[in-house]
Amino acid sequence: MSADCLFCKIVAGEIPADVVHETGATLAFRDIGPKAPVHVLVIPKAHHADVAALAVTDPALAGEVLAAAAEVARKEGLLAHGYRTIFNTGGYGGQEVFHVHAHVVGGAPLGPMLSPR
Ligand code: 5GP
Ligand code: ZN
Repeated sequence: MSADCLFCKIVAGEIPADVVHETGATLAFRDIGPKAPVHVLVIPKAHHADVAALAVTDPALAGEVLAAAAEVARKEGLLAHGYRTIFNTGGYGGQEVFHVHAHVVGGAPLGPMLSPR
């Protein structure tokens, strides 16, 4: 656990979350500010700052996060129409919480991945 990390506090049960899926090493819960009808965050329980750090430090755990994201999509009924998995990384990537998380979003057409420049 990393002190003052919001998502570590959710893992520890110190901050409530609407959990939709849990494995030994991962936790998935609904985003507090959903950007789509389904918007779930999937995290490793262990603290890693971002997906690049996770991939280097513990690639097996990175795989578990991806598998958990796919399982969330299945449980949330997203497989038939598709969905998007997003890892925002760093400042330009729009990352606000520096505990790696996959956004699993879907439930409606999501539009283009990015706005045209
Ligand atoms: P980022 O911008 O780092 O990729 O995404 C962080 C996400 O965490 C945002 O979509 C934001 O809505 C979500 N978030 C921030 N605080 C909380 C919280 O306390 N609980 C939950 N469930 N989600 C949060
Ligand atoms: Zn953390």
